[in-house]
Amino acid sequence: MGEPVTVPEYVLDAIASHRQACREPMAAFFYDLPALAAHGRAMKAALPPGVELYYAIKANSEAAILDTLAPVVDGLELSSGGEIARACACSTPRPWVLSGPGKLDTDMHEAMTRGVEALHVESLGEVARLQAVAASLECVQPVLLRINPALPEDLSSRLRMAGTATPFGIDEAQLIEAVRAVDDAANLTLVGFHVHAMSHQTCERRHQRLLASYLERWPQWRALARHPERVTQLNVGGGIGVNYLQPSEQFDWPGLCEALGQHLAAMHEPPRVRFEIGRFLTAFCGYYAIEVLDTKISHGEGFVVCRGGTHQFRLPAAQGHDHPIVHLPRDAHRASQRERRSWTVVGQLCTPKDVLSRRQALSGVAVGDLLVLPLAGAYGYNISHADFLCHPRPDQIFIRNAREASESSSRRCQYAEPVN
Ligand SMILES: *Cc1c(COP(=O)(O)O)cnc(C)c1O
Repeated sequence: MGEPVTVPEYVLDAIASHRQACREPMAAFFYDLPALAAHGRAMKAALPPGVELYYAIKANSEAAILDTLAPVVDGLELSSGGEIARACACSTPRPWVLSGPGKLDTDMHEAMTRGVEALHVESLGEVARLQAVAASLECVQPVLLRINPALPEDLSSRLRMAGTATPFGIDEAQLIEAVRAVDDAANLTLVGFHVHAMSHQTCERRHQRLLASYLERWPQWRALARHPERVTQLNVGGGIGVNYLQPSEQFDWPGLCEALGQHLAAMHEPPRVRFEIGRFLTAFCGYYAIEVLDTKISHGEGFVVCRGGTHQFRLPAAQGHDHPIVHLPRDAHRASQRERRSWTVVGQLCTPKDVLSRRQALSGVAVGDLLVLPLAGAYGYNISHADFLCHPRPDQIFIRNAREASESSSRRCQYAEPVN
């Protein structure tokens, strides 16, 4: 393990005060909105001139998250009619784009009537359907064609959306045909290309090379268009990974931005580059806090059984990792006196798959203690099967203001420093 994870004092206060209000053992998500805004601003500040940062809201589309990030980023990336409704309800209206496979005609119609900036088209079939919808609305719709480019083998990551057989985007071999179809569509205008090739990219240098490979192909892609001068945008997607196993070692975003800036500065007629980041924007602001219900030893292995589980926080199970755990003992002194041993942290589900983390070294873990799982702000609750076994859904607490949060807490946090 890397450095121990720390939870800000005011987040601990919010957890403690919420717990006092709970009549049953607690399982709840806490989101640190001031930290989210600060992180978003820092990411935006690192961008090279002219490069834009959109937020891919599928990572976390809760209203408070959107209200916090919308003023900070340049726009939003959406992938469904439901996400359009959420983005349009946001307190700060921002430009937005619509992507994703399997768009309904009603999604396209909704997008165009509600002011979508551009549609990212995934297939030749979508070009035809989008043309029909745009014609029925008598408007001309800017589109980007999503490409599934061939990728150098060594640039692959754990979750690939391109460079291999996927339902996403258009193969480069079919790109001429797709560009021609858009050029021939009276109500569509091609303004750029879109590539979202992978998720979980934790290596800045590899991502740099991936972006460089798009920029090298950009002039050829652009030259396919009937009006190359109108093709100005290159959306490079998201996919920046979070290091869940060593939280102190994270992706070097400023390093990537600097390298990208240099590459663009050296180009003749560079595209307007846009990122659409999900995970790396919101992961860090979220904490899943669960109360220990039981401890037991089975065939030599220690189990900590907690309120909640993977039906509320599916992320570690979905990715097959052992999530970092911060232990907040009820009695810090007693806990520190006890022996440290390895525990498997599980939830309440009647399935052996309900594992949040294995091999966690904890001292004196006891019923009534709290465990906090950080890095829970992206693809956490919203990807989970929350109704499985009919457990109640967890509360989601949005900490709006660091000072307010600690003042509203009726007592100082009595928990110990995390022992990870
Ligand atoms: C999911 C998705 C993103 C965001 O991906 P992250 O890995 O969360 O940054 C961006 N663009 C598209 C098209 C996506 O499907």
